[in-house]
Amino acid sequence: MQANAIAVTPFSQKLQAPFLKHQISILQINLGKICNLACSHCHVEASPHRTEELTPDICQQLIEIIQRFPQLQTVDLTGGAPEMLYGFRDLVKVAREHGKEAIARSNLTIYFEKGYEDIPEFFAQHQVRVVASLPCYLEDNVDKMRGKGVFEQSIQALQWLNRLGYGSDPELVLDLVYNPQLPTSNKFSLAPNQQGLQLAYKSHLQEQFGIIFNNLFTITNLPIGRSKFHLQHRKLEESYSQFLENHFNPATLDHLMCRNQLSVDYQGYIYDCDFNQMENLPARSPNGELLTVAKILERNSLDIIHEIQTANYCYGCTAGSGSSCGGSLL
Ligand code: SF4
Ligand code: SF4
Repeated sequence: MQANAIAVTPFSQKLQAPFLKHQISILQINLGKICNLACSHCHVEASPHRTEELTPDICQQLIEIIQRFPQLQTVDLTGGAPEMLYGFRDLVKVAREHGKEAIARSNLTIYFEKGYEDIPEFFAQHQVRVVASLPCYLEDNVDKMRGKGVFEQSIQALQWLNRLGYGSDPELVLDLVYNPQLPTSNKFSLAPNQQGLQLAYKSHLQEQFGIIFNNLFTITNLPIGRSKFHLQHRKLEESYSQFLENHFNPATLDHLMCRNQLSVDYQGYIYDCDFNQMENLPARSPNGELLTVAKILERNSLDIIHEIQTANYCYGCTAGSGSSCGGSLL
């Protein structure tokens, strides 16, 4: 099924076979849009001025889903800054109590805001896997994308996590996320090779700041959210989408995160991935109905989606080595 239309080949035409869901094993919950930062590349368009967040009712339904389905291996919490949003700590606790991996997508700077200073200890206590954004290891680039002083706070936060055992204790996993800078001209490039960049990050952060971490994930900027506004402003949206299409790699298709994931919004609606969620392209059952966490509970199954919804920004996930919330796909 196809949603948007810019002058590139519709993504659905690239698919040789129906784009089907696999068995669901990951529940990604976007708890809302409130964040202490307002980064230029944010696909959620989060900021301190947003107010949307999970409600107690939806949170309770999500807790029931986590408790009920052993096939769920991972509960992945994102936002906004998930740590600021309703239900965060309860969802972590219930996921861990039921033996699931709990991931927090953390911007690191939140630990320095009033009321959140105990978050690193909370993470360590519950063995939360921390996936932290650090779009570059150079201060200027990070501050340009995320705001002044963000790099310095991020470094302090990573050192704090290291002191608690993150990066050295096998139970305390710390991953970093790299986003390329947004293009300012039509000289586009894909994210650099993940392994090579991981080596560069590891040696720079260790030498300069004594920081250790586990994995680096490179994530391609999709032309959605603030990235789309940025590209439109410079009249680059179409050429960037064509660039991504020119690098379409069908070998990525089987590994896309939308295959085995449900993405839930703060209102309890279901999407195939967080990008579709931000672009308001909801998941549908085979008979076309919209899905919610309440319907999953009612039907007592996580596997109620047949075909994945796609749009032209899917070229961002399928270009080159592919891209997902867990980094490069191939
Ligand atoms: S990219 Fe992350 S840290 Fe930055 S505004 Fe968006 S949600 Fe917040
Ligand atoms: S945006 Fe990426 S993850 Fe989402 S449906 Fe498209 S290919 Fe799948």
